Amino acid sequence: MRYISTRGQAPVLGFEDTMLTGLARDGGLYVPEEVPVLSHAEIAALAGLPYEEVALRIMRPFVADAFAEDDFAAMIDRAYAGFGHDARAPLVQLGPNHFLLELFHGPTLAFKDFAMQLIGQMFETSLKRRGDRVTIVGATSGDTGSAAIEAFRGLDAVDVFILYPHGRVSDVQRRQMTTPSEANVHALAIAGHFDDAQARVKDMFNDFGFRDRVGLAGVNSINFARVLAQVVYYFTAATALGAPHRPVSFTVPTGNFGDIFAGHLARRMGLPIEKLVVATNQNDILHRCLTTGEYRVGEVTPSISPSMDIQVSSNFERALHLAYDGDGAAVSQLMDELRRTGGFTVSQGALQSLRETYASGRVSEDETAAAIAGYRTRTGQLLCPHGAIGVRVAEDHLGATPMVTLATAHPAKFPDAVEAATGLRPALPPRMGDLFERDERITRVANDLAAIEAVIDETRAA
Ligand SMILES: *Cc1c(COP(=O)(O)O)cnc(C)c1O
Repeated sequence: MRYISTRGQAPVLGFEDTMLTGLARDGGLYVPEEVPVLSHAEIAALAGLPYEEVALRIMRPFVADAFAEDDFAAMIDRAYAGFGHDARAPLVQLGPNHFLLELFHGPTLAFKDFAMQLIGQMFETSLKRRGDRVTIVGATSGDTGSAAIEAFRGLDAVDVFILYPHGRVSDVQRRQMTTPSEANVHALAIAGHFDDAQARVKDMFNDFGFRDRVGLAGVNSINFARVLAQVVYYFTAATALGAPHRPVSFTVPTGNFGDIFAGHLARRMGLPIEKLVVATNQNDILHRCLTTGEYRVGEVTPSISPSMDIQVSSNFERALHLAYDGDGAAVSQLMDELRRTGGFTVSQGALQSLRETYASGRVSEDETAAAIAGYRTRTGQLLCPHGAIGVRVAEDHLGATPMVTLATAHPAKFPDAVEAATGLRPALPPRMGDLFERDERITRVANDLAAIEAVIDETRAA
């Protein structure tokens, strides 16, 4: 399988290099040149299989010969062994034809664990084989960073530096990043928003001297391997609800567009997904863009769903690439305009294509809190604010087709917001009960490329 950049100017790579590289050298994102399509029978055969077996069958064609089949199967087994639920991604029912896909049973209680745990295994295997060492940098609004540090801590061939916006992640998220004591993982608190952290990470990738010197690698959702691992649960959920014999819809709490893009990929692989609904909080650039065709960056407004407090949605570039029929030059132009003017207008044809692919909705802070309280009363289900945004938007799309809303994090990851909405303070699962007793290790950094690079240069193992 060959991977090309959304901007069309970077080298074509195989899976392993795509994974290890992260961001393409032309600033674009890697996407598969062609997407394998599963037959009706192949999809039907997935129903009822263990999660790990579905994962192997779905990802195998994308990974191709990067790993031997047995090795890859063993990596998948190790990746999900630490999950707190045998089903890995269990479905529960919320109401008539409305289901919740619980993606928060991994070690850091958010869906990011699905991809990150597997990426940890794949990086370790690849780098050991190559006798190589890399420096992973990532920006996080909270959950990516904790999942990355959890997945990579203690590995030999990797140093990890996670930039998070100081004071803008929850205590649980911060502690998951700052309490692991392994010498190869580091949490850097940047003075700024998530978008600043993400911009500095992109700057590091575009500083080729630094990039090559430290062997920079990325595990943000710009990394295609992340998106790929997330395709799997669309298949397990949909086949449990009757696909491919009947269609299923999904609503996805969305920030950086990685999770919902995985749904789009599942649909292109042949999974009959009727609606794919983008749910946003008040930072609604995606909802506005899908409604008006105008992608215009505003100020980030902090919300009770901080993992979605994003204005620049990186993976949207992958959706644009498809909407523009793979025209890398057109995507380059849009991204140039975004950088110069803070926005762009999607062409009529591309907007039509995006609207055929995605529906969308936006939820206010009050509506989010009301959804948390309402579902607690009516179903007994305690939702995190992100999942609550999903179910609220999904309500506008319920019908004859089963709707699956992705519950992207455990309510105990956002206890203040959940308590404010319901009066109940959700408890951490027992396996993480001592999180608040562990010592923290934090490095403060300025929102400045040179300063951040200096910290990384000084701290990483040579
Ligand atoms: C990362 C995250 C999201 C947004 O997912 P994207 O793939 O960035 O769109 C939503 N909810 C939670 C809890 C998250 O951690």
